[in-house]
Amino acid sequence: MPAPINYNFVMTSKRKTVRSRAAPRGYLRSDSALVDAGGSWGAVVGAGELLRFVDLEGQQAVDFLCYNAVDTRDRYNAANTMKMAENLFLNTGTVLYGEYATPLMKIVASSCPDHDTIGGCCSAEMNFLRYGKRTHSCRANFLHELTRFGMGESDIVANVNWFMSVPIGRGGHMAISDSPSRPGDYVDVEALTDVVAVISNCPQKYNPACGYNPTPVLVETYKPVRARRGR
Ligand SMILES: [Zn+2]
Repeated sequence: MPAPINYNFVMTSKRKTVRSRAAPRGYLRSDSALVDAGGSWGAVVGAGELLRFVDLEGQQAVDFLCYNAVDTRDRYNAANTMKMAENLFLNTGTVLYGEYATPLMKIVASSCPDHDTIGGCCSAEMNFLRYGKRTHSCRANFLHELTRFGMGESDIVANVNWFMSVPIGRGGHMAISDSPSRPGDYVDVEALTDVVAVISNCPQKYNPACGYNPTPVLVETYKPVRARRGR
């Protein structure tokens, strides 16, 4: 597992100084966004470009979905992804497959193991059912971002949760657990085709998804220095 990032000073979140590190080899940073706790982000990411998600303060779930930009019906499919990986957890090398079995994105580096794709996203309804609270939610954030790209409620499907831990126990027991993610942990995800990528920086306070304390995350976009051969 790669070591956590040593960040050089680029910006400051409320609680901690955020530091930057070198771009992934062969890439140049083209964009950077600090996403507040409970905030959202979305963009079209070109084939060959890379997204880096940085958990600035540790234990922060980042709910994520991606869609084929040419045909958004070809959206992230968790079951296809797990079947092809023959694993419940997402790690370096895992390809994120679409509805039509299209390889949409690939995890090319991660300093945090076992990202989740079975726990889904939080919603006002589920928070009310489970905790008696109607709250801001990842579902609302997804809807906000997807609307920007001409999509809506029916486009929200079982998602990826970067940095979230959902271990499987005996008898198939599953539950959101304390994340092993440390401050500065990151995951690099390469677009294998043009995609629409959206995140919700989870506002959950009632289970361990965000360590009961949602915090900001950094989303960086990188472009390849030169077009790679064979693409
Ligand atoms: Zn959430």
